[in-house]
Amino acid sequence: MYIYIQGKILFSVIKCLLYLFIVIILIICIWSVFLFSKKNKAHCFRSKPLLTVVIDTEEEFNWSEDFNRKSRSVHNISSQHLAQNIFKKYGIVPTYCVDYPVVENDEAIGVLKDWADKGECLIGTHLHPWVSPPYVEEVNRYNSYAGNLPYDIEKEKIETLTNAIEEKTGQRPKIFKAGRYGAGPNTARILKELDYKVDVSVIADTNFSHDHGPNFIGLPTQPYWFDVDGVKILELPNSRGYDGLLARWGRFLYPKIAGATGFRAFVAGGLANTRLLERIPLTSEGIHIKDITRMVRKMIHIGQYHFNYSYHSSSLLIGGTPYVTNTKELEIFLQDMDQFYDFFINEIGGEHKTPLDMYDMLA
Ligand SMILES: [Zn+2]
Repeated sequence: MYIYIQGKILFSVIKCLLYLFIVIILIICIWSVFLFSKKNKAHCFRSKPLLTVVIDTEEEFNWSEDFNRKSRSVHNISSQHLAQNIFKKYGIVPTYCVDYPVVENDEAIGVLKDWADKGECLIGTHLHPWVSPPYVEEVNRYNSYAGNLPYDIEKEKIETLTNAIEEKTGQRPKIFKAGRYGAGPNTARILKELDYKVDVSVIADTNFSHDHGPNFIGLPTQPYWFDVDGVKILELPNSRGYDGLLARWGRFLYPKIAGATGFRAFVAGGLANTRLLERIPLTSEGIHIKDITRMVRKMIHIGQYHFNYSYHSSSLLIGGTPYVTNTKELEIFLQDMDQFYDFFINEIGGEHKTPLDMYDMLA
């Protein structure tokens, strides 16, 4: 009997300790989420929501095949007026970041130069290293991220492209976007040496290290300055935002489950399916207008003030990207784009700013 009572007491004590342990763990979890959300609170900036539009202006190529130096067709540029008409309707001055196959084609760069000369667009730089001279590196996935190349080769490619853009348009580009978001350890220094003012190579809360690319997890999602030997360059990260009850903690939670397998993938799927936490990129490529508008509303609610909308120029050519494969899809793509700008500017009272406007405003 004595042993029975002693055993019961011992069992109760162990149970109490277990409960206490669970409560402590829960308190630590809630506290760390609270601390993280405080630490990563959006930069307080009294402003209307601001929108920048950057287009990866490049050749059409088969996205499911290996990179190829011979993929240099830029037929899509003759379709850009379809989007340019929408930009004009909303007073948007987009930035066409052009790569080498575009700049080497007089007709293609001529279309953009005409708009730039009238102040209807800006022209920036977009580096696809595999189609950009000098052609010295092996063409493969690792080298498709220019930031993986040695400093000299990355610099020569960016410099050659920058000079070609200046020669063809009469204006030296000041805005840079690495192809495949492939910025590396030397990119900032090279941009400084070539007098760039704004970089748009970062994509919020995204990790490409599984494919030899950069890891942007933990970097700010709002505009920020980076200092290169005393010279400041403005970073305007490509927007990926969150929606759902847990959106406020999306930056903390998402990197823990992104790209995971097994149980963590199950949790990620569960969070998205129950709409507790969804991550949504700001583009009309494969994303429904209703999804991007609810994401933008939520992100404004939790303090995001700047949004960087982007797409690939080749999406305006049927079959140019996997997102637009027939006339109907092109129609929807353009409609969604139109509706998004209407939502941002007319419905929620946002304002458009070019990357250089942002630079002047935040300097
Ligand atoms: Zn690109």
